[in-house]
Amino acid sequence: MTTPKEFSACVAHYDPNALPVDAAQEIVRQWALPRARDTKVERVGLHDALDRVLAEDVISPIDVPAYDNSAMDGYAFSGEVLSRGDATVDLTVAGTALAGRPFERAPDAGQCVRIMTGALIPPGCDTVVPQELVAREGDAIRFATATIRAGQNRRLSGEDLAKGKPALFAGRVVRASDLGSLASLGIGEVSVRKRITVAFFSTGDELRSVGEPLDAGSLYDSNRYTLFAMLKRLGVHTVDLGIVRDDRASLEKALRQATQSADVVISSGGVSVGDADFTRELMNSLGDVAFWKIAMRPGRPLAFGRLWSGERAGTGESALFFGLPGNPVAVMATFYFVVREALLAMSGATRAPLTVVRARAAEPMKKRAGRTEFQRGIATRDEEGRYRVVTTGPQGSGVLSSMSNANCFIVLEHARGDVDAGDEVEIVPFDGLI
Ligand code: AMP
Ligand code: MG
Repeated sequence: MTTPKEFSACVAHYDPNALPVDAAQEIVRQWALPRARDTKVERVGLHDALDRVLAEDVISPIDVPAYDNSAMDGYAFSGEVLSRGDATVDLTVAGTALAGRPFERAPDAGQCVRIMTGALIPPGCDTVVPQELVAREGDAIRFATATIRAGQNRRLSGEDLAKGKPALFAGRVVRASDLGSLASLGIGEVSVRKRITVAFFSTGDELRSVGEPLDAGSLYDSNRYTLFAMLKRLGVHTVDLGIVRDDRASLEKALRQATQSADVVISSGGVSVGDADFTRELMNSLGDVAFWKIAMRPGRPLAFGRLWSGERAGTGESALFFGLPGNPVAVMATFYFVVREALLAMSGATRAPLTVVRARAAEPMKKRAGRTEFQRGIATRDEEGRYRVVTTGPQGSGVLSSMSNANCFIVLEHARGDVDAGDEVEIVPFDGLI
C-alpha cells in the first residue's frame, strides 16, 4: 500500500489544481484494497447471492451436462456409416430416446434411435442427424451422407462446466447467468464477501430535507438520494447520516461518527473554494488526507484520503474518505468515475472497466483543453447502425435533469479542445452503469 508520504509525493508530481482524472483514479486504486479475507465472508443461498461478490472460486462438483446428449430432434446413430462412400445412408429406427427417458442399449448395425433434444445419446451412437434432413417411411429413414459429419449435434458431457475445474472465480459479481450455472451444478449456497458499509452525509446550511418547508435561500437536499441510489446499485450497505451544518464542530463530529461505523465515508458539498481551507484543515487533523482538485468537469473540487476515528491520525478505526463537490451532477460524475471503482475493489470485486463506445458528435461541443469533461449525452443509432451523440443542452453542474434526460456520458479527454460536428468522441452508456 502507498504510504501517506508516497501518496502525497504522487499527488505533488502533478499540478494540484489540475490532477488529471486518470492519475486520480490510479491513486484511489492504490488505496482502495479489499478488506481482510477470512473474517469478512458469509454463506448465502442462491437467491441472496445475486449481485454479491464471490469470496472463493466455485469448483464444479459435476460435469454439466453430466452425459453426452442430443442438440437436436432427429436420429442418433454411429458416425462410422458416413465413411462408407455411399451417397445416402439407410437406417431402421430401433426405438426412441427422450429427455429423461434414455434408450438403454446400443442399436444393432444398420439401426438408429429416434432421439429428442437433451436425451442421452444411446450407447454405440455418436452422431445425430436432424429430423428435417431425413426422409422417413415407417421405420426406415434415409438421408444424404454429405449433409452431416460424424459427431455432429452431440453435446459433450462437461462442455459447459467440467468437473474439478473452476466454474466461477473469486471476485466475480454474481449475475443472472451465474445463478443458473450454480444451480446447474446442484450448488445451493455460496460464500460471498460481506457488504462493505458506506456512510454518507450532505453539508450545507442551505439544505433542507424532504418534508421540511423551504424558506428563502434554501433548497432540498438531493445528493443524499442520488448517493443512496448509486450506492444501493453497487450492493454496499448504506448509512445515511443526514445533513451536517457548515461548521467545524458539526463536520468533525459527523466525520468521526462515520469513520467509526463505516469502511468508506462520502460527503457532498463544502469542498469548493472558500470552504476548502476549512475542510482541509479538519481533514489533516483527522487523517492522511490529500486535498485534491481534479482536472475534471463537473467535479473539480474533490477531497480524498483516509480518516481515523481516534484522537490522532493512525488511531482508532479508519475509513476511506471522499469529499465530493456539492453540485448534484458533479456528485454523480465523481461517483461513477472516481468512487465507484474504489467501492467495488474494497468489496473484493475483480476490476471491470466501464464500457466505452465510440460515437460521432452530431453537433459541435464546447470543450476546454486541460481537463476531462463528462458531458451528458443522448446517443442514438443512425441508419447504418453507428452511434451519434448530442448533448442534453445546458451542461451546468447543478442541472440534475440533464442526467435524467441523458442515456450516456460523453467523455471528452484531458487534452482535447472544442469538438466539431462529425468528430469521433467516446461515450459511456448509462445502461449497466446507473
Ligand atoms: P458547495 O460545494 O457546498 O459549495 O455546493 C455547491 C453547490 O451545490 C451549491 O449551489 C449548493 O447549494 C449545492 N448543493 C450542495 N449540497 C447539495 C445537496 N445535498 N443537494 C443539492 N444541492 C446541493
Ligand atoms: Mg456548501
